[in-house]
Amino acid sequence: MVVNTPARSAMSPHVVLDGKAIAERIKQQLRRELASLKLAVSPSLAILYFETPASHVYQQAQCQQAESLGIRSMTEARPLGVTQADVERLILHWNDDPLIHGIFVHQPVPPQIDAQRISSLIDPRKDVEGIHPQNSARRFFAKARIGSCTALAVMELIESTGVDLTGKEAVVVGHSEIVGRPVSMLLLDKLATTTICHVETDKAGRLAEHVRRADVLVVAVGRPRFIKGGWIKPGAIVIDVGINVVGGHVVGDVEFAQAKERAAFISPVPGGVGPVTVMMVMKNTIEAFKLQQR
Ligand code: NAP
Repeated sequence: MVVNTPARSAMSPHVVLDGKAIAERIKQQLRRELASLKLAVSPSLAILYFETPASHVYQQAQCQQAESLGIRSMTEARPLGVTQADVERLILHWNDDPLIHGIFVHQPVPPQIDAQRISSLIDPRKDVEGIHPQNSARRFFAKARIGSCTALAVMELIESTGVDLTGKEAVVVGHSEIVGRPVSMLLLDKLATTTICHVETDKAGRLAEHVRRADVLVVAVGRPRFIKGGWIKPGAIVIDVGINVVGGHVVGDVEFAQAKERAAFISPVPGGVGPVTVMMVMKNTIEAFKLQQR
């Protein structure tokens, strides 16, 4: 297995996982795959985002990576006041368009939009986020054709450490449909002993206790520096999915500086899960394309 991480030095017991380097390695694999497919038509990705500065930046990153791989991309922006009917019309239009192979709807959706209904409406063969109920069900039986891109990115980062997860204590904080739940299933598939923590774990005052025994910790909550560095088990793998803006800076859900001193491997924010997630969207677009050629 290729480990895209800097070598450990005697002075430094921890490794900061380099999401950009891992994303670049996956990109080279995808380039080779696309070249071997000898395609007459380029795979294409349609992106819907709701007008916020963060979504705008994210869709630009998605389009840049798509273009650099020869994947056609198109974006539609909608104001935060968009109606359910407008979003549904767009999805149905993309479902019917044979030249669109992947559909990605940015999360979170505005509060008036029924996210579950949107997930169910996307053609499951074009669902590059792996959120359609058919794709979620396949994940439950470890038979996913298109997985959740963020969860797959988390697993890429963990696999880059070269650590075997069998029998390890894995703790996931957050149980959202797009991150916490799918990543828990993937950790279970690796035969890690997996615990899922959520808001009630915290209210019960038991979060620190679970985090302290985690050999592998994945945090996806969306609260800046919520997980204290002193809770990290020495030698743990820590994957921070959170993206929070504090005083104009992007920070994760984990107290990075303090956690780094205890962890063996830790993903930074920014530069950890984010770039790998974008690349997993590209991988899923190619998978979706292949599914539609059968
Ligand atoms: P979400 O849908 O808001 O889910 C947050 C989860 O955290 C929920 O399951 C919630 O549990 C749990 N939670 C809230 N307060 C908690 C507490 N005090 N203790 C323990 N758990 C608590 O968010 P998401 O979509 O999963 O995203 C999470 C974070 O990851 C966000 O910062 C988001 O921006 C980021 N993200 C990053 C990427 C990437 O590529 N890097 C991709 C997706 C998301 P309850 O439902 O029980 O309240």
